[in-house]
Amino acid sequence: MIQEHVLPTYGRAPITVAKGEGSYLFDTEGRRYVDFCAGIATCSLGHCHPAVVEALSHQASQLMHCSNLYNIPQQEELAALICDKMIGIPGRIFFCNSGAEANDGIIKVARRFGHRRPKADGSPRYEVITFNKSFHGRTLGSMAATGQTKIQVEFDPLLVGFKYVDFNDLEALKAAVSDITCGIMLEAVQGEGGVNPATPEFLRGVAALCKEKDLLLMIDEVQCGFGRTGATMGWKAVCPEVEPDLVSCAKGIGGGFPMGCFWVSNRVMDDAGTELSSIMGPGSHGSTFGGTPIACATSLAVVSEIVKENLTERAARLGEYIKTTVESWNLPCVETVRGLGLLRGIGLRKGSFTVPEGSMPAAYVNSLCMKAGLLACPAGPDTLRLIPALNVPQEVLEEGLAILKSVLQELA
Ligand SMILES: *Cc1c(COP(=O)(O)O)cnc(C)c1O
Repeated sequence: MIQEHVLPTYGRAPITVAKGEGSYLFDTEGRRYVDFCAGIATCSLGHCHPAVVEALSHQASQLMHCSNLYNIPQQEELAALICDKMIGIPGRIFFCNSGAEANDGIIKVARRFGHRRPKADGSPRYEVITFNKSFHGRTLGSMAATGQTKIQVEFDPLLVGFKYVDFNDLEALKAAVSDITCGIMLEAVQGEGGVNPATPEFLRGVAALCKEKDLLLMIDEVQCGFGRTGATMGWKAVCPEVEPDLVSCAKGIGGGFPMGCFWVSNRVMDDAGTELSSIMGPGSHGSTFGGTPIACATSLAVVSEIVKENLTERAARLGEYIKTTVESWNLPCVETVRGLGLLRGIGLRKGSFTVPEGSMPAAYVNSLCMKAGLLACPAGPDTLRLIPALNVPQEVLEEGLAILKSVLQELA
């Protein structure tokens, strides 16, 4: 494929997608694929869902964009829906356009919190602790927050104020907290890093540590949120009683339309009764395209559909089905089936099959699936990730799993 004018930052598969329909994609040769990638966990309702198409085209005919200089009623409607039905804790929303941007936003809130709740000597706290194998995005802020050196190669010096510890290791985390720490940021299930769920004990421990040390609990729900993990938010699938202070969202919130947001709790943060969400006042943050009428109207249709059709519960059920089905195959190349809801990772057993020179196991198996008509997605070197639409029909799920089974059987 010749891409003379597009920067070669992606290793692209040799197919060109022409059209999508539910959980199927069609390439320019007319070949049909079962889509268990769903635009990397973004197309939560599959492709071209009628309610989303209708909302998007109607809003396009009315007003696409007007800027945040004016009131945008779709923002208030969507924010109320997200606060009530998805987060479920009183708070306020800032709209942006992507996951990295949402994470930069919560890092800014944490920095400001560190100024308002400084060290004993009055100097600001600013350090955010994140985890090895995490993924938070590609901007300078979210890249520095990401605990994977491969993402950071030759982009140093990185933004200061991050420290990484092993995921699910509460003792290491406690040891890492110091008087400059202002927040702890994590994914409920590490997505890109290999589909590694937080343990309930760990998440509970992190929340308790945050309370004890006056730190913000910052949860990156970009991949886990909006029903993906079988709960409205990933942390609720792991440990529902935990109450975060900051939550970043993107991916599934827009059903494929570029949309992101972050949520800030209304909880009182000092003796004067200051709400955390009040510290980001006029002029503190902004985004030209954040929360356009067209993005909000589209997202409103997506989130309403997730709520109305109870797709969260469906994701929990189908996710269990994937797990038990893949495990029942008893294949030597499958070491584990990890994850929650419809964020599933198949851990491939090292050395159980031959991988071509220069390729990684997950990328290799992914390419074989693609040839066989199934689109999935690697997560780290050894994990094949299955992230179908939340409304994937049972028979399409079966069809995709049958392709996967034949590919994995042939490996063995
Ligand atoms: C994809 C992802 C991001 C980055 O989102 P973009 O929209 O690509 O900027 C951040 N955090 C997590 C957990 C993600 O999965």
